[in-house]
Amino acid sequence: MSATLARGRVRVAVVGAGPKGTMMVNRLCAFAASNAGALDLEIDVVEPFVPGAGRVWRVDQAWSLLMNTAAAEATVFPPGPSDLTGPSVHDWAVMVREGLVDGLPSRCREFAAAVEPQTAVPRAFYGAYLEWAFRFLVRQAREAARIRVHRGSAVSVTDLSNGRQRLLVDNGIGALDVDAVVLTQGHYAVGLGSPERVKASAAQELGLIYIPPMCAAEADLSGIAAGAPVILNGLGLSFYDYVTLLTTERGGRFRLDAGRLRYEPSGTEPVIYAGSERGVPYPVRADFSPTGDQPYVPRFLTKAAVTALRESTPGVGDFKRDVWPLLAKELGWTFYTVQYARLHGTGGFEAFSARYAAASWDSSRMRDLIAEFFPQPWMRWDWDRHTRPAADRRFRDPAEFGDFATEYHRSVLDEAAAGVTRSPHRAVTAALRRLRELVRLAVCHHGIAGSSYRRDIENWFDGLSKFLVWGPPPVRVEELLALLDAGVVRLTGPRTRVAFDRDTAAFTAESAVVDQSRVTADVLIDARLPSTDVRNATDPLVASMLAAGDCRAHVISDAAAPPGYPVGSLDVTENVFTLVRSDGRAHPRRFAYGVPLRGILGPFGTALPAVVEHCDAIAATACATGTGTVTASSGEAMTRLAGTTRQVGHG
Ligand SMILES: Cc1cc2nc3c(=O)[nH]c(=O)nc-3n(C[C@H](O)[C@H](O)[C@H](O)COP(=O)(O)OP(=O)(O)OC[C@H]3O[C@@H](n4cnc5c(N)ncnc54)[C@H](O)[C@@H]3O)c2cc1C
Repeated sequence: MSATLARGRVRVAVVGAGPKGTMMVNRLCAFAASNAGALDLEIDVVEPFVPGAGRVWRVDQAWSLLMNTAAAEATVFPPGPSDLTGPSVHDWAVMVREGLVDGLPSRCREFAAAVEPQTAVPRAFYGAYLEWAFRFLVRQAREAARIRVHRGSAVSVTDLSNGRQRLLVDNGIGALDVDAVVLTQGHYAVGLGSPERVKASAAQELGLIYIPPMCAAEADLSGIAAGAPVILNGLGLSFYDYVTLLTTERGGRFRLDAGRLRYEPSGTEPVIYAGSERGVPYPVRADFSPTGDQPYVPRFLTKAAVTALRESTPGVGDFKRDVWPLLAKELGWTFYTVQYARLHGTGGFEAFSARYAAASWDSSRMRDLIAEFFPQPWMRWDWDRHTRPAADRRFRDPAEFGDFATEYHRSVLDEAAAGVTRSPHRAVTAALRRLRELVRLAVCHHGIAGSSYRRDIENWFDGLSKFLVWGPPPVRVEELLALLDAGVVRLTGPRTRVAFDRDTAAFTAESAVVDQSRVTADVLIDARLPSTDVRNATDPLVASMLAAGDCRAHVISDAAAPPGYPVGSLDVTENVFTLVRSDGRAHPRRFAYGVPLRGILGPFGTALPAVVEHCDAIAATACATGTGTVTASSGEAMTRLAGTTRQVGHG
């Protein structure tokens, strides 16, 4: 960012000020600072909630709802040093403890006293941090840019005859005429899918309660009576949120009894029946263990390997064929390195390691090598065992399955307590978390063919990796075990199917592999977030752009099945993230970034350094296009910038 890329006056609107919008504002300011004297930047931030926290991280939500990221890892600042860098949540908690942060609610101060690097803080606490971070950014950037906040929702955007953009904002704010618009709308509003519409209308017709996919913090659970059966469909992070809201938020308490957590009901809880395809709730997340945050240096799935893959299979990449063997070999390496030390000590490891490196994943050579050093099946890494814990087993009743699930979670908690240096299982899950950025680089922007994306990512790897990597912090699993023990939560089992039974006018849930598991209930909660699918948008801005042909859903190309596989992501250009219109032309003054691009960037989230680079590329392009001063030298510098991004995008 050292070259002067833009000259003159420019006004950029950022729509949505959650974490990504905050980062976008940060990088716009960084761009202005690096063009000081040449560029006069105004930023209009449009957000109906308090900027920084936005909607997801509102401070006024239940404090019992936790982040699933460790405090030391959660940040909205780019790595320093610069005036625009700032603390992680853990560093901020230390600042709060030291009295360096004013104007916080007393609850924040009390909580800050207990925050350790590995703490999973309440979402409301993270929200307080994000609100502070936004205010801090505005202060730090005052020399670089003028930032105005508009507390409303953007409802439409149109082209003016001079190329500028007219953004209409509700709440009486009206029109903002700007040079460029960046959409960082995160989980924007979408309508119900057709299965959800059927459930909703059945519920309405018969006076039942149906809660469709949504953020649990926003669900109205007040109509759920004490003791009433409730079906929770889904066992991921939203499941844990609903369980918390229906138990401790209703006055129940956990108490330590001889080293075990016990649940003391308040008497106002419903009885929660929960199930999913896998049947087992997400296990504890790896990086909350004491050694979970170690950097990981890949040996087989390297950036160079990903680049080579993308170059050798342009447009026809296949995840299972091309990426998975490298990833599985990498994770196998992680597993057997720790397992070797645990079982054999250090002697002879070089010989094993050289032979492992020389063999392909799942080749007979590799299998023989593993069998030689790890003769018992329990010594080996088994994808199926770890991702489908119940495998194809049958259970005679839900109680037997409940015991199985409890035992499974206890063993994973023990592994987590051992940490990634002593538990080979935890080492794999922690490494997988780190490696997802490389997987993202391998698949993003047509890295693999559309059919492979649908089959291998959407229908297989995404679920598998979320189960292994995205679990809750340990306290949530300990609580779940206490609730299972108390009979407040009951698991229906694997391959649970939820349906609506017209004869009994109730919702039902039943596992295909657990006998006597059928339950009926007047309440059904689809415990997951809705997917941000542009084709289903009810957000007025996205919906109106779609109707006008000003944006479209991304199609992942597929030479074998043209035109490819459509995903719900907003379509953007590679490198600078300009919105692509329905006729395929990019709009030079409109950009989008973050959650709405998941189908393009891959469903795994994006690591912080890449987020910073992407936002830098958008900032440079938006300002240069907005000022209309793209000179030969700035064009060159922008190409360099875009090139940096391409390298990130391509590995
Ligand atoms: C309940 C929940 C819990 C999560 N927990 C974690 C976690 O623990 N760790 C983690 O890493 N990730 C977590 N995530 C993932 C989450 O997506 C990201 O952490 C983060 O919130 C994404 O940031 P964002 O700014 O892209 O989107 P958001 O946080 O969704 O912010 C987008 C903002 O855009 C605003 N907006 C939308 N439409 C308009 C409009 N038309 N006009 C103006 N403003 C608009 C919204 O009000 C919102 O504030 C969680 C997500 C959810 C929903």
